[in-house]
Amino acid sequence: MMDAVVFYGPNDYKFEQTETPKCPVDGVLLKIMAVGLCGSDIRTFEFGHPKVKPPAIIGHEVVGIIEEVGAEVMGHSVGDRVALNPIIPCGECYYCKQNMGNQCKNLVVIGSQLAGGYAQYVVVPKVAIKNDCLHKISDDLSFDYAPLAETTASAYSTQEYVNVKKGDVVVIIGAGPLGNLHADIAKARGASKVIISEMNESRLEMAKRFKSIDVFVNPSKEDLKEVVLRETNGYGADVVIPACPVGAAQEQSLDLVKSRGRVLLFGGLPKDNHHIRLDSNLIHYKEIAIFGGYAYNPDAFKIALDIITENRIQSDQFVTHFLPLKDLSEGIRLIKSGEAIKVVLKPWQ
Ligand SMILES: [Zn+2]
Ligand SMILES: [Zn+2]
Repeated sequence: MMDAVVFYGPNDYKFEQTETPKCPVDGVLLKIMAVGLCGSDIRTFEFGHPKVKPPAIIGHEVVGIIEEVGAEVMGHSVGDRVALNPIIPCGECYYCKQNMGNQCKNLVVIGSQLAGGYAQYVVVPKVAIKNDCLHKISDDLSFDYAPLAETTASAYSTQEYVNVKKGDVVVIIGAGPLGNLHADIAKARGASKVIISEMNESRLEMAKRFKSIDVFVNPSKEDLKEVVLRETNGYGADVVIPACPVGAAQEQSLDLVKSRGRVLLFGGLPKDNHHIRLDSNLIHYKEIAIFGGYAYNPDAFKIALDIITENRIQSDQFVTHFLPLKDLSEGIRLIKSGEAIKVVLKPWQ
């Protein structure tokens, strides 16, 4: 038996003992040393998720030690320290062949369709191993920070897509974990100035720990557009990234970019309220490019691990709390109240 948090339905989950999964002959059994508490999981705990069929173990930001290797598996050994890329493409379809694994027609996700990481053990299936989703990590990389790889990969890879580059002024709306991470990644890519906007005063205050952010705006006290124009000699930003699930922030982005600026719609909107109104004439006259951004191709996960290992982001500033797995609900409270940026759970504490 093992400890796990089992999800039974919206607002119904329990920390309990459950069957330890068996290692498949073509897979690997992973002893989970740390798992990141992700905002998307918090939404699943509260509202459910179309791809999660309860009872289920969710959680997808998983790192650990290989406990058992199936007889048919090559290239992995018991005792390896690894990070698991939870977004697993098939490797066969058109999108996979174009290096667009996140758009794979047969995508499976650890912690959605497959059992996830809020537990002491998880099975890594054959499809994950075959598609290079199980990564050995450097001895220098602590289990404390390696769970950031998943979010780092998606911030990195969506910024690659929207081409955040040297000299850009980047506006980020929302100072949640992903907003702050976008700030660090933008600076690592050479952005000259990062402006962040956040209405929650305690979140905004906490974002001040990130050296990558130059300007902090609380839009309930200051006009964001005025600040952006002031900071850009009246032109507007090169890139605006609304990194929050708020339609109004996406709509406002068009007002904040300069001509030929780029907008990256990063945060998904609530499923019952995801239609927004965009000023088509602004897009037309200012020649604005709007990009969607979601997840990443498997190669970005490896890049993200390197970014974390090389301290190109301030990992120790992101992870504000470590908690035992049994305190998952306290972790949710800390994040929702804005006291925590990122919570990492330890299943063996
Ligand atoms: Zn996540
Ligand atoms: Zn595919």
